Amino acid sequence: MNALQPGSTIGILGGGQLGRMLAMSAARYGLKIHIFDPAKDAPAAEVAATHTCASYTDGNALASFAKACQVVTFEFENVPKASLEQLAGAVPLHPGLASLETSQDRLTEKQFLERLGLNVAPYAAIDGPDAIERAHTALGGDTVLKTRRLGYDGKGQTRLQTADIDAHQAWQAIGAAPAVLEARIAFVAEVSAIIARDIDGNAVAYDVPVNIHKDGILDTSSVGQFSAFNVTPDLTRQAQEAAVKVAVALEHVGVLTVEFFVTEQGTLLINEIAPRVHNSGHWTMDACLHDQFDNHIRAVAGWPLGAPERHSDAVMTNLVGPDVEELASHAARPDTQIHLYGKADVRKGRKMGHITRIAPRT
Ligand code: ATP
Ligand code: MG
Repeated sequence: MNALQPGSTIGILGGGQLGRMLAMSAARYGLKIHIFDPAKDAPAAEVAATHTCASYTDGNALASFAKACQVVTFEFENVPKASLEQLAGAVPLHPGLASLETSQDRLTEKQFLERLGLNVAPYAAIDGPDAIERAHTALGGDTVLKTRRLGYDGKGQTRLQTADIDAHQAWQAIGAAPAVLEARIAFVAEVSAIIARDIDGNAVAYDVPVNIHKDGILDTSSVGQFSAFNVTPDLTRQAQEAAVKVAVALEHVGVLTVEFFVTEQGTLLINEIAPRVHNSGHWTMDACLHDQFDNHIRAVAGWPLGAPERHSDAVMTNLVGPDVEELASHAARPDTQIHLYGKADVRKGRKMGHITRIAPRT
């Protein structure tokens, strides 16, 4: 694929806030965005040239979408496999099917990471309550049960904390779907590596943020003076190298994120991978020469990557549900950048926007 010329169209599967921020970067490069999302009020559609409002399984709509785009990417990885295959047969799809299929299923993903020699939290594959009971004991009696597919923001998960668990109840709690049971890791911090890889295989890595979750949802991501945990240069390098290894194995084009636990021994265990721009990389918009959205657009457009260097220290805080009602106090702080996603309904647990506090790098 040749580098896209200004005026060309990039299709994005999914029209949430990630698609919206991708569209805003693309517009700066003179590239048009075509959003494919079943929701009429998709946040990205507001800032995109075109919106196909159709189901991810609508073959005719997918065919017209592919015709209208020079390349297709995604902000949402749970698009059905048949739809992805249809698209991949009709238009360049970046990242490709390998990235999508591997990360759609937690078990496939863990097996893939282990084959690469990367460390994941101890786990077992689960197909019913009996397997839960056996594995829970074997994994040390404090575990997290997660559906293999379709989990996000801590949904499709349940924690099992005691020795005498009700395995039937746990199985029902996650919808009686194929699952994995993971040992609960007593981590000292959570960090993530966000990298971008271009069509020629060149990769750049962002600085590694420290991520804090609240109620299973990312609350803050911080770098530099705002981080309570010191990510050493050695840990940074290990995290970035693991992410690049994953990207190379998947022949990934675009941004890829790897979430890690830092153990009490100071080692890294991979929690999960996301084959896309990520909430823990939103601070790059305000603290880096080129942000994760810029570099994703550049990569899928066949352009060279931009420098990821960080010029500022930053802490990004998600505005979840009613948090967004505190807007006036954030707006009153001159060191705080505000990013709102244009979502009309405030709902509990819904990501409405984020703010980034920035200071010159120390
Ligand atoms: P997201 O889409 O926000 O990344 P998700 O639904 O894919 O979330 P995970 O990343 O698997 O969920 O888990 C969410 C959070 O729950 C983790 O970031 C971590 O804080 C906690 N968690 C999950 N699994 C474990 C584990 N095995 N040990 C300790 N904490 C865990
Ligand atoms: Mg996660």
